[in-house]
Amino acid sequence: MLRIECPVCGLRDETEFAYGEDATVRRPDMDEADVKIWHDYVFIRDNPRGPHKEYWHHVAGCRQWIRVERDTLTHEILGSILAREVAA
Ligand SMILES: [Zn+2]
Repeated sequence: MLRIECPVCGLRDETEFAYGEDATVRRPDMDEADVKIWHDYVFIRDNPRGPHKEYWHHVAGCRQWIRVERDTLTHEILGSILAREVAA
């Protein structure tokens, strides 16, 4: 089981969180009409080995979205920050 450091609540079990999405992918503008761009956004993902940024929702805690940097090879949590602090 992962132990994820929530910036608000502290170190918590993974079961308190819901995985959100890859934090390295940027959604196209809503007026984008190119189907290929939307297809790639929805379906095409890298499968990185090593440090990777992800969004997680602390559903059983403070209900904040956080961006977690996790090593996909070792599952080590390398850091976390409130998503609103990186979204701007
Ligand atoms: Zn929390």
